[in-house]
This record gives sequence, C-alpha cells and structure tokens, in this order.
Amino acid sequence: MIVKTDAVIIGAGPVGLFSVFELGILGLNVQVIDNLDKIGGQCIELYPDKPIYDIPGIPDCTGEILIKNLIKQIKPFKAGFHLNQRVNALKKNNKLWHVITSENKIFETPNIIIAGGVGSFEPRKVEAKNVEKFHENGFYYFVRDKSKFKDQVVAIFGSGDSALDWTLELSNIAKKVYLIHRRDDFKGAAYTLSKIKEISKLGRIEIKTFYQLKGINGDKKLENIEIQKEGQPVEILKIDSALAFFGLKMELGPIANWGLNLEDKCILVNTKNFQTNEEGIFAIGDICTYPGKLKLILSGFHEGALAARECFARARPNEKFIFQYTTSSTQIHKRLGIK
Ligand SMILES: Cc1cc2nc3c(=O)[nH]c(=O)nc-3n(C[C@H](O)[C@H](O)[C@H](O)COP(=O)(O)OP(=O)(O)OC[C@H]3O[C@@H](n4cnc5c(N)ncnc54)[C@H](O)[C@@H]3O)c2cc1C
Repeated sequence: MIVKTDAVIIGAGPVGLFSVFELGILGLNVQVIDNLDKIGGQCIELYPDKPIYDIPGIPDCTGEILIKNLIKQIKPFKAGFHLNQRVNALKKNNKLWHVITSENKIFETPNIIIAGGVGSFEPRKVEAKNVEKFHENGFYYFVRDKSKFKDQVVAIFGSGDSALDWTLELSNIAKKVYLIHRRDDFKGAAYTLSKIKEISKLGRIEIKTFYQLKGINGDKKLENIEIQKEGQPVEILKIDSALAFFGLKMELGPIANWGLNLEDKCILVNTKNFQTNEEGIFAIGDICTYPGKLKLILSGFHEGALAARECFARARPNEKFIFQYTTSSTQIHKRLGIK
C-alpha cells in the first residue's frame, strides 16, 4: 500500500518535529519516519537530562522537556509517525517521490524533508557465533513488540539504561530474565539497578557479571547461548530469546546513496528554501550545510520554516501562499484548534 502525503520528514529529532508545525500551519499533512524506537533524535538518545540554554524564549530546559513540548506543539496536526524503520531509498516518480523504508512501507509525496541529524542511529553489533543467523529470529537489538517475550526465558546483554530498563520491564511478563554484563559496573540509573537487585531476590531476574556472549545455538529456532567468564570454560544457558543493548552509533547510512551533493558527510543546500540539488528534496538541521551553517537547534527551526514555504508551493501549485502571523490568523487558529 502506498501512503500519499504532502510531505515526508526523515528524522524525528527536534528539527524534524518543529517542521511538522511549520508545515501544519500551512495546512499540509505530514508523515515522519525515524530509525529509532522513540521520538526526539539526539536530545532524547544522547542527553535527555542535560539542560539546554539557547532555545529562544526558554531560559533553560532539558533535552527531554524540549521534545515533550515539541510533541505537544504539533499534536493538532495529527502527523503520522513511523518509528523503528530506516528510510533506505528515494525514487523519482514523475514530479513526485517515493520514499521506501526498511519495513517496505512506501510513501508518495512531492516533498521530502531530510532532518536526519548526523545520520541514523544504528545499534552497535555483537560479534559472536551465529548472531547474524538468529538476528530478528530470537536475537534482537530493539524491542519492537514486548509481548513476544511473554512467558519466555530472556537474556539481556548490556549495562546502560536500555539494558536495565528492559530487564525490569520484561521481568513483569517473562518467565525469567538474565541480565548479563562483561564487568560489574552498570552504567544505567542506580535506582533501576537497585530495583533489579531487589527483584532478583525473588528469582525472576538473575544478574550474571563478568560474562560475554560467545555464540548462539539452535537449528531453526534459538535453543541456547554460549557465555563465558574470562579464563573459565564456556557455559550453556537455555533461553528463548536474547537482546543486546551495547549502545548506538551514528551513520550517514543510505542517505549517502541518494545522489545528493555532499560536503563533509552533510547535504549541500541553498539558503533560500533549503532545497538540495534534487527538486522536492530538502535538508535541514544538523544534516545540511551551507556557508556559515551553525549546528544548533535554533538554526534548524529557521531552516524548517523556510523549507515549509517551498513545500507548500509544490504541494498546492494552484494556491497562493499568503504569509500570516500565528497570533492573528484565524485560519491558523482553526488548524491549531484554537477557538
Ligand atoms: C551532548 C550534546 C549537547 C548538545 N547541546 C545543545 C545545546 O545546548 N543547544 C543546541 O542548540 N544544540 C545542542 N546540541 C546539538 C543538537 O542536539 C542538534 O543540533 C540537534 O539534535 C539536531 O537536530 P536534528 O533534528 O537535525 O537531528 P537529530 O537530533 O540528530 O535527529 C535526527 C534523527 O534522524 C534519524 N535518521 C537519520 N537518518 C535516517 C534514515 N535514513 N531513516 C530514518 N531515520 C533517520 C535519526 O535516527 C535521528 O533520530 C547538542 C548535542 C549533543 C550531542
């Protein structure tokens, strides 16, 4: 099925989110795609608790609060969000574009806004026997649907917040959760770790430190994993599923193959409307570059506002663009649900 829309935004970071607003007040409908399982880009993935002091009109707020407010601000526009999937390809279809994701979703649109930051966040891969064979079939880097782990014995590898949070969360539905780490210093929140230790006394969670994953065994289905303590023999652990949370790395990924002019891994744009060398493809936020570019959230907000005007002209070629202030436009008030 092809989803038709006025604009597709690649990247649900702060800049992609504010662009939903700028497109929304012009009456355009939008679909947003992100590789991550949550909205917020770098603000949520890298520094949710760090204060930001240079958002105009907001003396200080954390990365998390900024994203919460942006989500609130764009709520009236009912944008579609498609998480957990990477945009792999863009294909020209007459005057329109087809945007194709790793989940084989296809979007048809006259406007693509790339707000991809420094590229897509990709999980750091594990190197161990048969990991590739069981990828997405017993061995996972993301939880897409937690009900899959109901009544299972699950092994979680990692020491950060994702590993600790999912250990706690899955312990509510799984038969048993092993939390396995190659050292004994967990990097995630101390509060979550203390809760895990409390529950481990009941046997639903078992913490195994100084172990590493060596391999996965099974025929069609994962049957057990091999784990090893340094200098000790390999141990076999019978489990149903394994999850690895070893952090994320950022990669330009497929964006590099879309025929766009690049400079230092960023997309070259004009500063009139932030269009790239391809008509109908715009780039804003950290991913774009032009003389004087500042990699700041506020720059991305400005870039999104100007790109939105050109998107309007392309999506509504027979309508005249009329500049209006949000304070006084009854049309914008209606779109925002203000009475
Ligand atoms: C520690 C730290 C502190 C910072 N402090 C400040 C500050 O105080 N003030 C300030 O203004 N800026 C700050 N920044 C910079 C700011 O976070 C970035 O400028 C901002 O996040 C850029 O927003 P963005 O929406 O362009 O990209 P991002 O936030 O990087 O979001 C891009 C999103 O696009 C997704 N994506 C990329 N490619 C694809 C694809 N092919 N398919 C699907 N999804 C894709 C990624 O998964 C990601 O979620 C800081 C950055 C860091 C790391």
